[in-house]
Amino acid sequence: MVPGQNPGLQTGPGTNTYLLGRERLVLIDTGEGVPAYNALLKEAVEASKARLSLILVTHGHRDHIGGIRAVRRMYPDAIARKFPGGEPPSTFQPIAADEQIRLDGITLKAIHTPGHASDHLCFYWAEERTLFSGDLILGEGTAVMPRDGGSLTDYLASLERLRSLDIHRMYPGHGPAIQDPQAKITEYIEHRRMREREVLDALYAGARTIPEMVARIYTGVPKPFHRLAEETVWNHLVKLEGENRVRRIQAGGQERYELLE
Ligand SMILES: [Zn+2]
Repeated sequence: MVPGQNPGLQTGPGTNTYLLGRERLVLIDTGEGVPAYNALLKEAVEASKARLSLILVTHGHRDHIGGIRAVRRMYPDAIARKFPGGEPPSTFQPIAADEQIRLDGITLKAIHTPGHASDHLCFYWAEERTLFSGDLILGEGTAVMPRDGGSLTDYLASLERLRSLDIHRMYPGHGPAIQDPQAKITEYIEHRRMREREVLDALYAGARTIPEMVARIYTGVPKPFHRLAEETVWNHLVKLEGENRVRRIQAGGQERYELLE
């Protein structure tokens, strides 16, 4: 693991990037483009005495894709690939959903797992039964579904998809490795169910706007995190709206919500 050197409110301890292989290396994610990262990557590649041949990106968020220019400059022969979405097509060769990517005795299955981002891939290393989970599952805290490209409905389907895999180890895009992957997946699903109940409870109790619901649900959470919490609540409301359990009303430039059950 080569740390991206970009700790922050949204990145926690920073982005994890991973190098795997013996003679030809695969790099998973490129960090944010912090110059200090380039030196660390160079050191790790040199220490392995191998050649960096392939760059895979889990999704197009800045903290995963931002280092691509610098990494390509350092390793111009390496091929860069990701699931299509957003970025200029010349930068990356597309990866198809469920494609098996083979290099140097390593088989990585690209599992399309939207929810955090519509172009999100997890990479399943078949020989090692190891999953690189990107930002779908994190080493600490819980994942965020941003308004731009996020979907809680997709997210839950992606978690269910992972349940069917035989995963022994999980390496996330942020935070430490996950020792008991199946328990973690269950915990994530349960966490979302709990949040949904809390959103419904807040509506029952009379909260009508997202800030009102956040204030009710996230008591004791420091204010700087409330904006992220608002995105989470918004996502639950979109899901509940899609299930005809909640109605959204535009009133005086403000979004208000009502229970339909
Ligand atoms: Zn990230």
